[in-house]
Amino acid sequence: MRIVLLGAPGSGKGTQAQRLQAKYGVPQVSSGDLLRDAVARGTELGLKAKAVMEAGQLVSDDIVLGLIRDRLSRPDAAKGFILDGFPRNEDQADSLNELLTSIGQPLEAVLLLDVPHETLMQRLAGRRLCPTCGSVYNVHSLDGATTCPKEGTALYQRPDDKEEVIGKRLEVYAQQTQPLIEYYSKLGLLRTVAGEGELDSVFERMEAAALAKPVSAASVKVRKARPQAKKAGAQKSAKKSGKKSAKKAPKKVITTPARKSAKKPARKKAVKSGKKVASRKVVKKTVRTAAKKTVSRSKVARKRAKAAARKK
Ligand code: AMP
Repeated sequence: MRIVLLGAPGSGKGTQAQRLQAKYGVPQVSSGDLLRDAVARGTELGLKAKAVMEAGQLVSDDIVLGLIRDRLSRPDAAKGFILDGFPRNEDQADSLNELLTSIGQPLEAVLLLDVPHETLMQRLAGRRLCPTCGSVYNVHSLDGATTCPKEGTALYQRPDDKEEVIGKRLEVYAQQTQPLIEYYSKLGLLRTVAGEGELDSVFERMEAAALAKPVSAASVKVRKARPQAKKAGAQKSAKKSGKKSAKKAPKKVITTPARKSAKKPARKKAVKSGKKVASRKVVKKTVRTAAKKTVSRSKVARKRAKAAARKK
């Protein structure tokens, strides 16, 4: 497993990386943890990074790359790694590619944890940590407790989780890290995972995405929507919008009122003006007798023709 976890601050990269590490025995390599460790130990590098981190900005690429290179050269990383928080911009991504190519350990996948902005704000502002075991909690689920349920130690808030810094971190993510979504999708490595919901469900999705075999674009068939399904959809939406769909519209009944109305006024006019007009009954009778006459005439003609034929 050689993967990168991509996602905004608060998307749950750290939590999911720890779970993957526990299950697959592959180390979580978190650039944020490496930097915080350097700060805590008061190293020269840590002193340089401290102020930048507390302002919600990115630490310089060479410092972070140095830490990552050291960490990946340790024996436990030979069987794989879960990179969490690195890379954070395109230059770091290029450097990572070079480094991994040189050690013959190319990336297998980049998992993007997708979480809405409001959820990120809520998670970051409410995040509390245990200094002893490193467990992560949220004030919303602590029911007012201020100590770690496992260790009993007082929980603390990361300095960069203060509300005034959160906004800056999310802004830096949008400007510098988000372009990596396109960067890795162009390389065919990106897999997006919905990062909201139960931790176990998110983890299942992460695992599925991490272990999925890469699929070549050429082998993906795109099915065209069936025309019928389209019609059904069109009818539904027409129903919703109150419009009559083409299929359900009543058939246009073609009547011939034009003829009748054209004759009626003429007859009415004639009656009004005192002209002699045959009554409707008489008209109908005349039509019937005329029709009968035509029939009987044709019968006579047929009989005559038969007789002539017999004579011959
Ligand atoms: P994180 O724990 O990943 O949220 O990182 C905390 C802080 O460490 C960030 O806000 C940055 O100041 C710094 N940091 C972590 N990873 C990187 C990185 N890859 N490049 C630059 N700065 C980083």
